[in-house]
Amino acid sequence: MYDIILKQGKERSFQRRHPWVFSGALSKIPQGVGNGETVRVLSSQGEFLGYGAYSATSSIAIRIWSFDINDLPGYDFFERKFRAALTFRKIIFNNVLPDSYRLVHAESDGLPGVIVDIYPGFAVCQLSTAGADYFRNEIADALYCVTGCNVYERSDVDSRKREGLPDVKGLLKGVEPPEFIEFTENGIRFRSSLKEGHKTGFYLDQRVNRQVVSSAAAGCGDVLNCFSYTGGFGLAALHGGAHHVLNVDSSGAALEFACSNAQLNGFSTEQFSVEDADVFQFLRKCRDSRKSFDMIILDPPKLAETIKQRDKAARAYKDLNLLGFKLLRPGGKLFTFSCSGAMDDDLFEKVVCSAAQDANVNFRIIQHLAQAPDHAVSGFFPEGHYLKGLYLIRTE
Ligand code: SAH
Repeated sequence: MYDIILKQGKERSFQRRHPWVFSGALSKIPQGVGNGETVRVLSSQGEFLGYGAYSATSSIAIRIWSFDINDLPGYDFFERKFRAALTFRKIIFNNVLPDSYRLVHAESDGLPGVIVDIYPGFAVCQLSTAGADYFRNEIADALYCVTGCNVYERSDVDSRKREGLPDVKGLLKGVEPPEFIEFTENGIRFRSSLKEGHKTGFYLDQRVNRQVVSSAAAGCGDVLNCFSYTGGFGLAALHGGAHHVLNVDSSGAALEFACSNAQLNGFSTEQFSVEDADVFQFLRKCRDSRKSFDMIILDPPKLAETIKQRDKAARAYKDLNLLGFKLLRPGGKLFTFSCSGAMDDDLFEKVVCSAAQDANVNFRIIQHLAQAPDHAVSGFFPEGHYLKGLYLIRTE
């Protein structure tokens, strides 16, 4: 195993147990160390700091697997981590695990680059870093052993490009997933494609927020669910007693799933309709024709991938929320989200407030929202917090 020595003073992040080492912190990189290979990280004084995965092309040159000299990554290591992740989820869910949940939330579960979502009979994993990719077989075997599920890989994520890795998608262990898988969330039935759906098939991070929408929806006449994907928030609103939901998304395939999910739950096309459109254009059309709604949900895709894109993204969030406020009736409820890690909570709130100012609308903040607890964030890795949202009511 190669040793990588840090520059003097660069071991400080290790005291905070932060798992990233940037390329500027390395004193020199030994010849021949491969992308994703495990390296021993040493301080400038030669003390052992941790075992990490070397990333040849990323600015995050090393991601730490373990700070313990006796805890070398390999099959046993992954099996232990997955068992710990499962035990933790049992604590979160008071021993009653839902049909679908996040088992492993990467760095927050001590596993940089490894995401695992569970659906009935299937563990779907996403390996986004060179180190995670390097241990694909050990990860698949350990997951199969710990969960008893078939293991399917969905490593078709943009961030792999930064790691010099191609997209990978396919069966790792057991049998192929069927065309769609069925599961229940907050009492609502969903079907999703694990092979073709977004992320690992479904946005599990919004489970609790869908419950909040459901509780706020009783008696709402017109709900507008923007960026609806397969209808998650829309169905939650109907389940909570809303009368009609219009779901807008630019993916026809997602909307087909949305309609079949509505049917599956016994909702009619009078209650649940869909529109295949660009949300920004659609909202402008609504504004021009003076349409308004009792509840609006804005859950756009990640508009800022990196800090560099933050200013541009802030303008897009502002535009979106400004339109949202304009279409909201007095007393109407707005649920607005950002899943961009690069937009911190404060900036997001400022953007939403300035959108309300420009729309000349008064509002109160009812609740601050975040990712579901199975996506819990380690105190040593604040970057694990990415999803933020606000529940607002327009006042007179
Ligand atoms: N709210 C969803 C998840 C939204 S993910 C849920 O609870 O499951 C973001 C969605 O936005 C995706 O379905 C994507 O197809 C859609 N999308 C991305 N850009 C869009 C645009 N400009 N207009 C409409 N939909 C868009």
